[in-house]
Amino acid sequence: MAILCAENPSLHDTLTNYNVDLLWHPSLSTATPRELEATIERICAGEQELTVLCVEGAIALGPDGTGMFDSMFGEAKMDIIKRLADRAQFVIAMGTCAAFGGVSAAGCNPTDSVGLQFRQSDPGGLLDPSWRSAGGLPVINVAGCPAHPSSMVRTLVAALLGAPVELDPLNRPAEFFSTTVHRGCTRNEYHEYNVEEKAFGGDGCLFINLGCQGPTTQAICNTELWNGESSKTRAGAPCIGCTAPNFPKPQNLLVTLKVGPIPLSLPLGVKRAKYMAYKGLARDAAPERLQPTAPQAKTAATATAEEVDNG
Ligand code: SF4
Ligand code: SF4
Repeated sequence: MAILCAENPSLHDTLTNYNVDLLWHPSLSTATPRELEATIERICAGEQELTVLCVEGAIALGPDGTGMFDSMFGEAKMDIIKRLADRAQFVIAMGTCAAFGGVSAAGCNPTDSVGLQFRQSDPGGLLDPSWRSAGGLPVINVAGCPAHPSSMVRTLVAALLGAPVELDPLNRPAEFFSTTVHRGCTRNEYHEYNVEEKAFGGDGCLFINLGCQGPTTQAICNTELWNGESSKTRAGAPCIGCTAPNFPKPQNLLVTLKVGPIPLSLPLGVKRAKYMAYKGLARDAAPERLQPTAPQAKTAATATAEEVDNG
């Protein structure tokens, strides 16, 4: 549903301007299940063209590789998707579940859920790593939980036009996944001077204590704002890393795991020894106007952070 928030262009404009015949969408289509089944069979018989297949949600392989935990018309959805994927010019995984398995594949993964072409960060999910669509590309992974509306709709437009889509090593479109959530965050000046909040509600950075994964998460959330207005970190919540193949990490997502005072995961590409030296100097140089603004009361998150801190 997040794609309905797209503004530049909107989903409606995309469908209209590019003369898209939307064959089926779970929320927008009025087709009956029988009509959907007939459409699928026409595509698989080669009687109906399929330019772009967009898949949302993880693929359940269980139980025992049958896929019957998730079936439709008496057939495992994994088999239906395979048949459709082999007919499509381009296949797009919309969201982290379809791309890597996401929430459905977390923990003990009782449904044996995978992404379309990845099992979390390992190549090969429902489809083999060497699989390519008729247009010559692997599954295009527009990761996110939910995926960013601009990323979804602009990738869709590129596929409709048959335009080249540069992919990163996780087959995500490089245009949307080569920057971090940290870029453009309004809390960056606080991060720079190591002014870190210990409780929610202030203007400071959320990296050291409150679980923010913005410096390690590749997404455009702070450079193309959601609904043209805001982002998680702008609204005071940490980035929880939803575009990563290992999302969600098995930990309290509102607490930063640390070794001593330093987070386990440092900003992408930063060396630990240099980071520690820089942080010490930065805090001493912080101007008065950047002092913590949140009431530094002991919240549950703070208490847990301190427990982790103390080993
Ligand atoms: S809150 Fe997160 S994204 Fe924002 S500056 Fe701090 S670490 Fe970066
Ligand atoms: S801020 Fe982080 S967790 Fe939130 S949508 Fe963006 S990438 Fe996902």
